[in-house]
Amino acid sequence: MDKAQAQKQIELLREKIREANYAYFTENREVVPESVRDQLKQELLRLETKFPEFITPDSPTQRVGAALDSRLPKITHKNRKYSLGDSFNAEELTEFDERVKRFLKVEEIEYSCELKVDGLNITLWYENGVLAKAITRGDGFMGEDVTHTIRTCENLPITLFENINLEVSGEVFITKQDFENVKNRPTKNEANEVESYKNARNLAAGSVRQLDPRMAAERHLKIFLYELGEHNFSNEIKSQKDLFNQFDTLHLPHQPLENFKVFSDIQFVIKFCEQWSDPKAREKLDYDIDGIVIKVHDFNDRKRLGYTAKTAKFAMAFKFPAEEKFTQLLDVQFQVGRTGAITPVAILEPVDLAGSTVARATLHNREEIERKGVRIGDQVIIRKAGDIIPEVLEPLLDLRTGDEKEIVFPTRCPECGSILDLNETVARCENLDCPARHRQSLFYFANTLDIEGLGPKSIEAMLKLNLVHTVADFWKLKPLDLATLPGFKRKKIKNLLAALEAKKELTLAEIFTGLGVRLVGSENAKIFARYFKEHLHSPLLKEFNTYLSTLNPKTLLEDFIHLDGVGEKVAQAMTHYLSINSTQKLFKNLENVGIELVWPEEIIANDTIYTGKKFVITGSFEAFSRDEIKQMVTRGGGKILSAISGNADVLICGAKAGSKLKKAQDLGLEIWEEDKISNALSTVQDNKEPRRLF
Ligand code: AMP
Ligand code: ZN
Repeated sequence: MDKAQAQKQIELLREKIREANYAYFTENREVVPESVRDQLKQELLRLETKFPEFITPDSPTQRVGAALDSRLPKITHKNRKYSLGDSFNAEELTEFDERVKRFLKVEEIEYSCELKVDGLNITLWYENGVLAKAITRGDGFMGEDVTHTIRTCENLPITLFENINLEVSGEVFITKQDFENVKNRPTKNEANEVESYKNARNLAAGSVRQLDPRMAAERHLKIFLYELGEHNFSNEIKSQKDLFNQFDTLHLPHQPLENFKVFSDIQFVIKFCEQWSDPKAREKLDYDIDGIVIKVHDFNDRKRLGYTAKTAKFAMAFKFPAEEKFTQLLDVQFQVGRTGAITPVAILEPVDLAGSTVARATLHNREEIERKGVRIGDQVIIRKAGDIIPEVLEPLLDLRTGDEKEIVFPTRCPECGSILDLNETVARCENLDCPARHRQSLFYFANTLDIEGLGPKSIEAMLKLNLVHTVADFWKLKPLDLATLPGFKRKKIKNLLAALEAKKELTLAEIFTGLGVRLVGSENAKIFARYFKEHLHSPLLKEFNTYLSTLNPKTLLEDFIHLDGVGEKVAQAMTHYLSINSTQKLFKNLENVGIELVWPEEIIANDTIYTGKKFVITGSFEAFSRDEIKQMVTRGGGKILSAISGNADVLICGAKAGSKLKKAQDLGLEIWEEDKISNALSTVQDNKEPRRLF
């Protein structure tokens, strides 16, 4: 990047950051996700470091936070409010640790770690033990007077037990639960507009900065304090721990101490940060946190370290890995899926996101591309949450340079050249023999059945050498065939054959799911499999194939439509699939290569009247057959014995019982009559779900 380009880029970034900051601090809105706002600031900082001649005093890198809202009275802070530096990884934390130690000329130092509550920073002044003022951080010098709304904070005392003067700061927030409640019940703001808040932080900030405190009171604001300003305590506060103890004495709220830790080695700090980086760890909290705040524990050391122009040198915010970032869209490829659906895939400048490097993301379909207005060359926001496939959310239009290019959607299948129907939301290659569809089906099958060692690369190589055509061919592979594949040495061959052998016993639902019948997902597959379990005498593929060869599509469709949980479209798709020649051939092939069907095991419930007991059955019953009773007992976790012995616990006794009843009475067994088991029926029937995944 040359100087002129850098200057242009710096200006674009500043403009975007100013807009995002204004929305965030002043309007309690989000124009871009917070992690993207962070990344924009970092990018600006990086350019300004490289080209310091372009730094201006009004650059967002030189100022704390917010433009002030004109509606609320302004108050000058007694002491300048600083921001925290940001760290995003272990390396940056280690550098922080080294800086601190170098400055203090020590070998070892204690750090306190607090959860970084994602709310709004507020400073309180208590005068003679009474809450006199509450002020937002504002630009660090001057904040807004929000005393009227902060007084509604539910956990904040308005008067203290002691007659002291005190300046403290903390974070105002709204619990996740309260946020959900408000979100589901939208309210109008003072300008009579329906308010919508993206997250609990926005809502907290919006509520604090209302003119009317009643609205704030309804939102159940809470506050956690963590920072001490001026005070006239009689005792000395030496550390963060001391401070929290002092808060306890005064009944001032702070975050639970179970989440507050003091460590004497940065490695432990890093571990702590990593633990909380796992979104699962944060689920159990009833408020949002966006990082960990690390502070030098000792207050004297803090004083010696002091501040930079903007931030405290003794503290650092560790920010959790972003799930949203921006990066450049380099190109778009069009991928054909197993059902023929064409998915536009974004090829990205690789970027670290939520713990991995992302270089590809889905753009979903043509409509989405048009709706988002994405162009090749754009800076785009991408998201990756948990295990989901990364996706492109939107372009940062303000960062466009003019060199971006339209994305042209193909009119033909990129693999087989079939003409695509572009009127549908999802364009589809309808050619059943499309090599791409074929390949994807094989990938899908191997992946769904979790056949180890049978990844896309291996399958692709097998296709190239004509070793496989349908999924049944996987089980025909011979060691010598595999030896011709690149990278297949003895061990790999042995492992793959063993993995295939291990998957020779399959449930029907597993097969249906793996074959990826259109519209039939794993849940539907289970329902259809259950249908066949009821209509076949035994789990033999041979029997299933006979069934297929004689099926009447009309009656089958009729049956399917009546299945619980199956819609008409799904029933049609499945009937069609089972009726066509190629499916019947495929199942015949599966039979020929030795695939065996198994029925899924039933889940055995472990807290029914049957659990852990041994039963003998005698007599005849009104509502049940013997087989049904046996099933109920075993599903309920009981055992059936054929004859009475000292081993048995209970005799289930119907009408016209014979000698067994007498014997049971002699041995002192429990005797249950029919009404006992019919009363218990409902609990057992709930447990009919099969144990196998599908
Ligand atoms: P930032 O807004 O990214 O500069 O992060 C700094 C902000 O984190 C502070 O201004 C506080 O509002 C907030 N924060 C949340 N929890 C804490 C905490 N335990 N200690 C210090 N700051 C905190
Ligand atoms: Zn095609």
